[in-house]
Amino acid sequence: MDSYEKFIEKVEDALSLADEKKELNIFLSLEKEKIRSSAEKITDAMKSGTAGMLAGKTVAIKDAIITKGTVTTAGSQILKDFIPPYDATVVERLMANDALLFGKTNMDEFAMGSSNENSSFGPVKNPLNPEYVPGGSSGGSAAAVAAGIVDMALGSDTGGSIRLPAAFCGVVGMKPTYGRVSRYGLIAFASSLDQIGPIANSVSDVALLLKAIAGHDKCDSTSSTEEVPDYPNLLDNDVKGLKIGLPKEYYGEGCDKEILDRVRELTESLRSKGAEIIEVSLPHTEYSIATYYIIATAEASSNLERYDGMRYGFRADGNELSEVYSQSRSKGFGEEVKRRIMLGTYVLSAGYYDAYYKKAQQVRRLIRDDFITAFKEVDLLLAPTSPTTPFKLGDKMDDPLAMYLVDIYTTSLNLAGLPGISIPVGNSSEGLPIGLQLIGKPFEETELLRAAARVEELVPS
Ligand code: GLN
Repeated sequence: MDSYEKFIEKVEDALSLADEKKELNIFLSLEKEKIRSSAEKITDAMKSGTAGMLAGKTVAIKDAIITKGTVTTAGSQILKDFIPPYDATVVERLMANDALLFGKTNMDEFAMGSSNENSSFGPVKNPLNPEYVPGGSSGGSAAAVAAGIVDMALGSDTGGSIRLPAAFCGVVGMKPTYGRVSRYGLIAFASSLDQIGPIANSVSDVALLLKAIAGHDKCDSTSSTEEVPDYPNLLDNDVKGLKIGLPKEYYGEGCDKEILDRVRELTESLRSKGAEIIEVSLPHTEYSIATYYIIATAEASSNLERYDGMRYGFRADGNELSEVYSQSRSKGFGEEVKRRIMLGTYVLSAGYYDAYYKKAQQVRRLIRDDFITAFKEVDLLLAPTSPTTPFKLGDKMDDPLAMYLVDIYTTSLNLAGLPGISIPVGNSSEGLPIGLQLIGKPFEETELLRAAARVEELVPS
């Protein structure tokens, strides 16, 4: 059979599998006919020998990334009928490289959450065990890959939202350096922290997807002009002489012992292959959650101001304009989003700005400085992705603080703008996946991917 016939068959199988796994609640939209006709077009390109680097690959898109003509909700009722008039830059780049866009994936509302239970369209269930959460907020994207429906997916990561669901679903997920990937067309949560990134079953597919989406975009002034390396072809290199730092604050209390044991085991294997393992300190780690939840909520309260029932999505009735505004927001936003808007508005308010927002910005600098100091000594850092394995649906819903703490090892990277990748490294005794996180220097995604590929080789598949 020719490769394009195989491709059409693969797409049909994926559509059937998506139907079979409907109860996992992965997709918010799946336009079957559009997918079929895009697949035909891609096969035409394959036949004529003009196909791009992602031809033959199916890619699911987090519903925070806008797609022209396809409803894009960001997991929120307030956008439930929103049809964007243009494509996000990453979507344009996927299409230019002949990827098959395969559905929009469920997520925590406006990407606020760690378990996907904050989606206003119902939670995603973990494909490895549907009693458990898939992690959030890009849970639908990670689950689509883990369920075997798509080859790859795009997520977004503001404080861990790619790496955490990747860890919880047993797949690979990367948050690139801030500015590596254009945010144009990403529905904003916290603009100084948000970054789009790839999720896939292997490090090499993550590298391929990153190559396709990375690079400067004139529509996003924060996107970097730094050249995009040929990531997928730069993955060979051994770890001999690589200096790997273990941040001691990431190995303390509060992390499951099984996760620590597994991460340590792999560290020993890397050492035996010639890597130099060095303990380092990131002393301001304990402030990262508090700092993140001040800065992220402040930015969110400002970004979400635009949803007033006038320009986008849902509009409630009201006797006067102010009532339309307030009713649209009261009915359109879910509980967690309202909590964040209130927190953010509070920390930015006149009497509290200095005590909270300004202070958080100062601490953010200290957190970044910790990394700069550590990176004088080591090439990259290695730690768990999350302090726990996936938890059961409903387990943390009554305790927002417990939910926030799940991001203890991920938020610092966003505050510092650094790249990080989560690699699946085996299962706990309960059969739940464990993720190992590597953290790199700014724009050193190549080094990060190489090391991730070495870790991947150490894990029996
Ligand atoms: N869980 C974190 C939050 O709720 C991070 C979310 C994200 O990265 N989008 O804000």
